[in-house]
Amino acid sequence: MTGTIYLLTDKLTREKKHVCSDCVHLVEACFVCGLPVRKDFVRLPDDRFLCARDAKHAVLDTSDAKSICKEVREDLDKLFSRFMTFPTNVEIAIVDRVNLLALFKIPGNDFECPNVLGYFRSTTNRHQVRLEISLMSALRAAELKSTCAHEYSHAWVFDNVSEERRQNLGRDAQEGFCELVGYLLMDAQQEDDQKQAVLRNQYTHGQIDLFIQAEKRFGFNEIVDWMKYGVDAELSADNCRDVDIPRGARVSAIGASSYEEKPSPAPDKLVLKGISWTASRPLAIINNQSFAPGESGKVRVGATNVSIRCLTVQTNSARILILGSGEELELSLNRIEK
Ligand SMILES: [Zn+2]
Ligand SMILES: [Zn+2]
Repeated sequence: MTGTIYLLTDKLTREKKHVCSDCVHLVEACFVCGLPVRKDFVRLPDDRFLCARDAKHAVLDTSDAKSICKEVREDLDKLFSRFMTFPTNVEIAIVDRVNLLALFKIPGNDFECPNVLGYFRSTTNRHQVRLEISLMSALRAAELKSTCAHEYSHAWVFDNVSEERRQNLGRDAQEGFCELVGYLLMDAQQEDDQKQAVLRNQYTHGQIDLFIQAEKRFGFNEIVDWMKYGVDAELSADNCRDVDIPRGARVSAIGASSYEEKPSPAPDKLVLKGISWTASRPLAIINNQSFAPGESGKVRVGATNVSIRCLTVQTNSARILILGSGEELELSLNRIEK
C-alpha cells in the first residue's frame, strides 16, 4: 500500500478532493460528482452509482419525475407565452441509462437530440406524428427540469420550423437554442447551479453563449425569428438579424400574441395578460401592449386609450401607474384554475 493521495475534481461542485490510492482505484464512481463511492451509496438498476450526498438530491421516483416534467411544461407555457406555443401531443418517458443508450444504437433511428441525459424524437406512423421525449432517471431536480425544457424545445422546433430551415440549421445552433430555453427557465427559477452547469457544458461548441448574448441584446422575439427564418446555419455575434421572413409570416414570427392576429374587442379594464420572464428583462403584457419595468405607453381599454407606466414586474403580477390620474394599481395574473 502506497501513501499516494490523488487530487480529483468533484464534477458537481468543482471542488478539488483528496482521495487515497485505495479509493481512487475503486471502479465505482458516482454518476453525478465522479468521485469514487465508498459506503452509503445508492446503486441504480442500470448500474449507475450515486454517492450519499448526491443520492439525496436525485429524483429517484418515476412518478415524481413525471410530475416535475408536468410543472416544466406549465412553466414553459407561462414563461414563453409571448413567443412560443409548445406542442401538446408530447409523450414523456423516464428511462434508465441502459435504455437511453440503447436507443442511440438502433440503426435508422432518427435522433433529433443526442443529449445523453434525454432525447427527443418524432415518429410517423400512418400519417400520425408522435412526439416523444425520454429523460434519464435519477437526475437532480434542476437538471431534470432544464433537460426537460431542452427536449420540449426540440419538439417546438420540430413543430414550428420549416423542414427546409431545419435542414439548413446547424446541429450546434439547434442544441444552443434548446439550451437557451432551459437556461432561461433556470434563470426564472433562480437555479444558479444549473445555469452554471449549462454554461460549462461544451456540447453546443459555444452556440449557447452566443444565444445568451443575442437574447440579452435583441430579446427572445428575434431569436425565434432567427430560428425560423435565419439565413445562416450557426448563430454568430452579429447575424441574429439576418433573417428572410416571408410575407405574411411577420405577425406570427415576432410572436405577437393571438389577439393581434385575430383582433378581438379590447378589454374594458386593465388586464395583465401574461408575463415573460427572461434573463435580460421581464415584460408584462397589459391589454394589447408589453412593458418592461419603467416603460410607459398607451393601452387600449374599451374604446379609448389609457396611458400607463409599468413600475415593477413580479413573477405573477405587475404594478402600474395610470398617468392621467396618478393612481397606482397592482395587476395579477388571472391563472386558469384546473
Ligand atoms: Zn457524488
Ligand atoms: Zn438537444
